Amino acid sequence: MTETIDAGRPADADRPACRDCGAALVGGGLHVAWCADCGWNTDPGADAEEEPRGRIERVRRRLARRYGEQLFADLTATGGAGGHSARSGRGRSARLAGCLALAVHGLTVALLAAGLAMVVAGRGLVPLLGAVPILLAVVLRPRFGSLRKATADRPVLRRPDAPELFGLLDEVAATVGTTGVEAVVVDTDVNASVRTYGVRQRRVLTVGLGLWEVLAPQERIALLGHEFGHYAHGDTRHGLVVSTAFQSLDTWSYTLAPQESASLLDDLMNLATALPRAAVDGVAGLLDHLTLRGSQRAEYLADEAAARAGGSEAAATLMDRLLCAGTLDGVLRREAVAARTRRGGDRSGDPAEGLWRRLAAQAAAVPATEYERLRRVAELRGHSVDSTHPPTHLRRRLLTAGTPHEPRIVLDPERAARVDAEFAAARRTLARRLLNG
Ligand SMILES: [Zn+2]
Ligand SMILES: [Zn+2]
Repeated sequence: MTETIDAGRPADADRPACRDCGAALVGGGLHVAWCADCGWNTDPGADAEEEPRGRIERVRRRLARRYGEQLFADLTATGGAGGHSARSGRGRSARLAGCLALAVHGLTVALLAAGLAMVVAGRGLVPLLGAVPILLAVVLRPRFGSLRKATADRPVLRRPDAPELFGLLDEVAATVGTTGVEAVVVDTDVNASVRTYGVRQRRVLTVGLGLWEVLAPQERIALLGHEFGHYAHGDTRHGLVVSTAFQSLDTWSYTLAPQESASLLDDLMNLATALPRAAVDGVAGLLDHLTLRGSQRAEYLADEAAARAGGSEAAATLMDRLLCAGTLDGVLRREAVAARTRRGGDRSGDPAEGLWRRLAAQAAAVPATEYERLRRVAELRGHSVDSTHPPTHLRRRLLTAGTPHEPRIVLDPERAARVDAEFAAARRTLARRLLNG
């Protein structure tokens, strides 16, 4: 595929000219051909990109964009994400969010207590009816998740299987000021995340090979630094009380969702649930509002942790890799389709061998002009896909503004290779699954 990209980038003289300004287009081949001078065709997908549905979501996006920009201004003014004004004001919303979340859980406790009281002290049918609030409380209880649910039959690495990897994880975690993980789940996503499970809130890291395999060693350190950074800075939304309250509210809104009106009884039920439904929506909206700014700040602070661990330069190029996540996703999808159509015909060789190598080669072949285009798209759209993250171009700009961090951890090639070797079995398994699935 590399040839196609080279073929798409002929010398200036042979390049097609911009329709609007006549300058030579850049990109082309596997990538979008666009004009770096006047911006023609920078974002051909803009029309397809759906307007967020509903007024609430539109307001949310607008707020997210404003917070992202305000925080960026604050953080650049104070010289980096560690600055003081970034932290001021965080306290009150976080405290309010905490109180609101506790109130949500308090309602669950009240339901349980009321149910028990009905069972114990009620007469006639009342003890029987007491089962309803008790059942509801059981459904609404805070859930801590389990490792089994988090893994969902994906390969899992434990400390004894992967001493080099876990050693590295401990080191990155300690550098950003937190502790490591209990297990590492491996999947094919162009992503990575850390989440907690169990009452004791143990951590599990999910590494998506779609991203991991295209990263340079220092970018991997930056990625891990970002993920652990979320725990080092006490990110409210990731916190136990608030995250479980969001889940309870989800359950409430599922329980109270209006039924399709098929009979008078449905209509009466819908009428009866209208008020609590509005209350649940209101509380969920408020909790979201109170944590939105905090979660954006947490992303900037996690980026700062990424820069401290892996160096500012690697943290910035990591942003570029994240910008082209869509391209990498496309490569993996095409590989899966190609493997399926090949089946039955050419049976020679195992296509899984080399899948990750091919992905990395494709990522390495993404030209600088495409990164530039994707940065401009992010700027034009002004928001990320998920509004809890600040816009990527601002995250990148913050990383490159101010005094750059030297990496605290340098992953030398030998160590990188030893870590890589511990992923070998998972890489094979997942490549086969992706291509045969
Ligand atoms: Zn032009
Ligand atoms: Zn993050």
